Amino acid sequence: MAADHATVAEEEYLETLYWLFEAGLPMTGANLSRAMQLSAPTVHEMLGRLERDGYIVRDAGRSIDFTESGRDHAERIVSRHRMIERFLTDVVGVPWDDVHEEAEQLEHAMTPRFEAYVRASVGDAQTCPHGHPIRVGQRIDGVPLADCVPGAKVTILRLENEAEDLLHYLKRAGIEPGLVGEVGSNDGEHVSVKTDGGEATVTYSVAETVSVLADPSPPPRIALPEQLVLGRDRYGR
Ligand SMILES: [Zn+2]
Ligand SMILES: [Zn+2]
Repeated sequence: MAADHATVAEEEYLETLYWLFEAGLPMTGANLSRAMQLSAPTVHEMLGRLERDGYIVRDAGRSIDFTESGRDHAERIVSRHRMIERFLTDVVGVPWDDVHEEAEQLEHAMTPRFEAYVRASVGDAQTCPHGHPIRVGQRIDGVPLADCVPGAKVTILRLENEAEDLLHYLKRAGIEPGLVGEVGSNDGEHVSVKTDGGEATVTYSVAETVSVLADPSPPPRIALPEQLVLGRDRYGR
C-alpha cells in the first residue's frame, strides 16, 4: 500500500522518474541522479523510501518501475505542474520562461479546492506553455531539432528540458512551441530556423532538447540524459 501523502521530496523524485519515462530513458538510479544532479547515495536512499512507501519497485537489474499507485501519483503531480504553468502564463500573465520554477513551488502547496479553481480557469488547454501535455498520456512523438536537415519544414512541439536558464535562452533566440518554420542551416554547432518573423538560431546542444515535427523527418531517436540536462544545478522537466 502506498502512503497517503508523499513528501515534497518524494513527489520531486516521482516527477523526475516520470520525466525519464516520458523521454524514453531507462528508469534507473544512475539516470535519476544525472537528471536531478544529486549524488548516487542520496538517490539510493530516497529510492529505498519510495519503495517502502509503495510507489516503485526495483528489479535485480536495478531498473525501476512504478507501482500502480506510484504511477497514478506521478501522473497527477506532473499534470498539476503543467496546469499551474498554463494558469500562470494565461491567467496571471507570467512570461513562459519564468513559470517552471514558480510552478515547482506552488504545486506542493495547493489545496484541492484551489486546484479545482485553477483547473477551471485554464479550461481545455492541452499543454503547458512548453508543449507538454496536461493530460499526460497524450504526448505526440517528435524528433530533435538537432537532427533535422536544412530545408526541412518544422513545427516546434516541445521544449524537453525546462531548466530556467535554458528557457530564457530559447525565448531570447525566438524558439517556442507552435512555431512553424524551415531549417535554415545545421552545421553541427548551430541550428537555425527561418520563420516569417526572421531567423532563430540556437546551439546544436540546445537544439537536441527541442522536439519538432519535421518534413522530411529524421529517424526517431532517444536522447541521452546528458543531452537533456543542461542546467548546472537544476534539470528541467
Ligand atoms: Zn515545468
Ligand atoms: Zn512546462
